[in-house]
Amino acid sequence: MTQEETRRLADIKTLVDAPDYRGHPLQQALKELYRLHMAQTKRLDRLLSIADSYQQFTREDLQAIKAQYDRQVQRERKLSRISDRYQQLMRERNQALKTASSQDPLTGLANRRSLDDHLKQAAQRSQSHGRPFCVAMVDVDHFKHINDRYGHETGDQALVELAGVLKRQLRASDQCGRWGGEEFLLLLNDTTLDQARQTVERICTRLRALPLQVGGVSLAVTASVGVAEHRADESPQSTINRADAALLTAKREGRDQYRLAP
Ligand code: GH3
Ligand code: MG
Ligand code: MG
Repeated sequence: MTQEETRRLADIKTLVDAPDYRGHPLQQALKELYRLHMAQTKRLDRLLSIADSYQQFTREDLQAIKAQYDRQVQRERKLSRISDRYQQLMRERNQALKTASSQDPLTGLANRRSLDDHLKQAAQRSQSHGRPFCVAMVDVDHFKHINDRYGHETGDQALVELAGVLKRQLRASDQCGRWGGEEFLLLLNDTTLDQARQTVERICTRLRALPLQVGGVSLAVTASVGVAEHRADESPQSTINRADAALLTAKREGRDQYRLAP
């Protein structure tokens, strides 16, 4: 209420209570009006107070809901981060498992299981598109001597170096894997027997010319190779068997050479 209003009300109250006007009909009416005004003012004050507390309550309620919402959003962000990290971890684990199941741990080349898969795929491709492919079985000559003379660890390193030499002699579309021990299998895609012959000749020459440098030791290493071209009517295993037989011939006939399977 303003000062002016308070003053006016005080004047009216003086008039209402003035003994000089007692019994005057206007004083009666003014008294009644004053009473009504005061009752209404009281009611208005009460209503205003209710509205204020309601607004306060609504504000507090809104703040509580907002805080709850913020907490929920934070929780969801955290969950989403955990889920992202978990998925990333699973992807890495899967990749590691895939690598472990398809890679030779020593040389990093494809292992036998992976080579088997590649061979099957090559046989299927060859059957549907009539494209030739060859397999070459490479076996290091007298590898036992290297182990005996320099130790198993040097032997291991020699295998790693050898793997690198073989890989560098192949095209990206070929496969080079460790078949087992000191035997490597080359899968030469889109390759005829004559083209495969050129590749293995290059490999034999390269090995002969290049002593492997392993831990300060210079190793003269040669290999024998058996090569077979896949036939349309045979299984991949049968192609491998023929390459193996050619390899045996190469060994028997003096090593450090290749033989082509008939
Ligand atoms: P050949 O010319 O007849 O093939 O003679 P070789 O000595 O290479 O063949 P043999 O089968 O008698 O011996 C293979 C050797 O290869 C014996 C084995 O210890 C060695 N070897 C196989 N795998 C590994 C390997 O992972 N690391 C090492 N250091 N040696 C291996
Ligand atoms: Mg062998
Ligand atoms: Mg050998």
